[in-house]
Amino acid sequence: MIETTQRGTADRPLRVVVVGCGPAGVYAADLLTKSEWVRSGGLVVSIDVFDRYPAPFGLIRYGVAPDHPRIKGIIGALHKVLDRGDIRFFGNVDYGVDLSLADLRKHYDVVIFATGAVDDAALNIPGIGLRGSFGGADFVSWYDGHPDVSREWPLDAEQVAVLGNGNVALDVARVLSKHADDLLVTEIPENVYAGLKGSPVTDVHVFGRRGPAQIKFTPLELRELSHSRDVDIILYPEDFEFDEASDEAIRSNNQVKTMVNTLTNWLVEQPEESRASRRLHLHFLHNPVEVLGEGGVVTGIRFERTELDGTGNARGTGEFLEYPVQAVYRSIGYFGSALPEVEFDAGRGVVVNEGGRVLDAEGKPVPGLYATGWIKRGPVGLIGHTKGDALETVTCVLEDLEGLPVAEAPGEDAITGLLEARGVRYTTWEGWHALDTHEKTLGENFDANALGLELSRERVKVVSREEMVQISGAIEAKV
Ligand code: NAP
Repeated sequence: MIETTQRGTADRPLRVVVVGCGPAGVYAADLLTKSEWVRSGGLVVSIDVFDRYPAPFGLIRYGVAPDHPRIKGIIGALHKVLDRGDIRFFGNVDYGVDLSLADLRKHYDVVIFATGAVDDAALNIPGIGLRGSFGGADFVSWYDGHPDVSREWPLDAEQVAVLGNGNVALDVARVLSKHADDLLVTEIPENVYAGLKGSPVTDVHVFGRRGPAQIKFTPLELRELSHSRDVDIILYPEDFEFDEASDEAIRSNNQVKTMVNTLTNWLVEQPEESRASRRLHLHFLHNPVEVLGEGGVVTGIRFERTELDGTGNARGTGEFLEYPVQAVYRSIGYFGSALPEVEFDAGRGVVVNEGGRVLDAEGKPVPGLYATGWIKRGPVGLIGHTKGDALETVTCVLEDLEGLPVAEAPGEDAITGLLEARGVRYTTWEGWHALDTHEKTLGENFDANALGLELSRERVKVVSREEMVQISGAIEAKV
């Protein structure tokens, strides 16, 4: 048990703020409450979690594809944590806009940043700025009903290129190629259904720059492609190249082996002629070099054919290929956004940190400042991996307890007083319950018969920030 001088007691709990209410933030808050010191009563903590969106759950609500209910189900576990009542949630509060670092430091002894990575990594090739060239992450935000993206998405292409061989590329390609009616059982907002329903798409081409054994997909997500109704998967025998490193990866890694088997089976079994109305093509060994256009609009894409170099990396062959497409989606990874007043590694898109301790410009830890999740280690790994990350960060907090700076205004009402004085229309956990119930009611009341369909819906997502804030009761209650 620690000596907690004047802090960490029932009279003066250790005040902790987590910025970001996605899985990373909730795991960090939860693990802190479950730490030995807290459970034994030796340390009393009082934790607030802020999010810039009116609703909690970050990437799970706004990054996981709607037709992935298993992953969306993680919301259930996070909901339970926040439902306990020992961690407060404040939504619609933007760090750097509504609250500065000085505000947080004045009210909290510990600040943990868990803001994730929401932007698309850049792809610097000619033509990438043409109309019809999109960031995959932006499209994900659109189909997931993100409050800050436009309700409109131009879905007028018959042939589409998706760049990248990660799970986000698969999500983007699957949603683009699926028939909209087959997505209606999910929580997709009305505008997303309408947009996808009107899409004239016939062919979605996914391009990887390396070979079939170098894909970053995961087996379940890859296999799922074959479950889309009336969508054929098309593969190309000339893309099936394996070097020594590929053979080794297939031998030593079960996931790679499973996925290469899946791809090879699809290749062998594919019909000579596709009878489906839509096709999803998987291409390998294609390095994008230029998005082609006319009159400022995408008309095609040009690749350099690559070959494996023995180490699993690809090198150019000098052979170039062009495909006529009217839209290009780059899904080559996410990238974290800089946080005001915190040292940022612009090369990696992460807050500069060591094991979760935020560092200053000289590389020294800034007392009381921490990071966790994708903003700490970059946008790789599945949601579950974030837990180990949170544990490391929380362990740092506990190790540093004695040397933490002391917040000047630690009272739980002080921060809400400040938000109210500034007119910030924050939402609360009770507000989320109201929004949650509202969305479920929209789902129950959805009239699928009117569309000639027989299906039931669990939830229909509310998209507009204003509507979310109103349904959550923030204005009436707080301003
Ligand atoms: P990712 O897994 O890192 O994949 C990025 C892909 O982009 C790789 O295939 C990479 O190829 C390619 N790439 C990078 N730079 C490129 C360039 N300049 N030109 C062409 N291709 C390029 O990233 P992600 O798909 O954004 O996923 C992020 C994380 O979220 C991953 O851990 C992923 O598994 C997870 N996720 C999971 C799910 C799920 O359903 N389970 C859904 C979405 C995301 P190289 O390998 O050659 O670099």
